[in-house]
Amino acid sequence: MNEPLQLKPRDYKSAVKPIWCPGCGHFSVLNALTKAFAALGIDKDDTVLVSGIGCSSRLPAYVDSYGFHSVHGRGLAIAQGLKVARPDLTVIALGGDGDGFSIGGNHFIHACRRNVNMTYIAMDNEVYGMTKGQASPTTASDWDHSKLTPHGPGVRPFKPAALALASGAPWIARGYSGNPNQTARLIAEAVEHPGFSFVHVLSQCITFCPEQTDWKSIVHEREEAPVADADEAARLFLHEDGFQTGVLYNAQRETWPPAAPDVKSNDLTLGFKI
Ligand code: SF4
Ligand code: MG
Repeated sequence: MNEPLQLKPRDYKSAVKPIWCPGCGHFSVLNALTKAFAALGIDKDDTVLVSGIGCSSRLPAYVDSYGFHSVHGRGLAIAQGLKVARPDLTVIALGGDGDGFSIGGNHFIHACRRNVNMTYIAMDNEVYGMTKGQASPTTASDWDHSKLTPHGPGVRPFKPAALALASGAPWIARGYSGNPNQTARLIAEAVEHPGFSFVHVLSQCITFCPEQTDWKSIVHEREEAPVADADEAARLFLHEDGFQTGVLYNAQRETWPPAAPDVKSNDLTLGFKI
C-alpha cells in the first residue's frame, strides 16, 4: 500500500476560480473537502468527483482531481458505475438538494440500498439556486420567497437522513457550512467508511435564502455516539429538528457488489470460453 501523501489543502484546489456568490456555503464545503483530502493524504490521481447539475455541482471543477460534471440528477448513477468498474478509486458523488432529492431522487434511494463503497455529499440549501430560487424537495412548506410558490410550496419537505436510513444507507452524517472543520472531519470519516456513506451538509444559499444565516444559532453538534441500531435511528431521524450535526448513524452492512469470484478472464462470458 502506498504511503499517504503529504499535501496541504490548497494543493487539492484547481486553478479554476469558483463563481459562487460571495457568502455561498459551498465555498466552505469545498474547503472542508480539500482539508479532508489533505488529512487522509489522498492521491489526486486516484480520486474522482462526480456531480450533477446546479450551483454545488460545479465543485469538481474547483478540485485538482479527476472530475465529471455530469447530467442533472445522475451523478450518483455514474459514480456507482465508476466505483463498480474501478474499485481501486476513491469515488465521491456530490450535488445539491434539487439535483439529489428531486431529479436524482430515485438514484439516491437505490444508491442507499445498494451500498456501493463510495461517498455522497449533498449540499442542501433548501432551494434551486442556479435557476433563481425555486422550492426544492427540502424547502419548508411555508417558504414564500419564490414567485412560483408565493404562499409556499404547501407540501412537507423531505427528511434526507430519514429517507437514506429507510433506503438502507449504513452511514449517515450531517455537517454545516458554518463549521468547515467539523465538515472536513465528517467527510474524511465518510471516505474511510467501507460502504455507502451519506454526508448531508446544510450549506446556505445567501442569495435566495438570506434567512439561512440564522442556522448558526440553530445548528447543534451531536454529543452522543452515532446510533448503530436502525430502529433507534428511525426514531431519531423522524423526530429530530434536522439541525443536529455529526455522525448520526453508523452500521456495518455488506457492500455491493460482493467480492468477485476467482475466475479467469476468459471465463467472463456467457457460459462459454473464447
Ligand atoms: Fe450559492 Fe445560492 Fe449563489 Fe448558488 S445562488 S452560488 S447556492 S448563494
Ligand atoms: Mg439547492
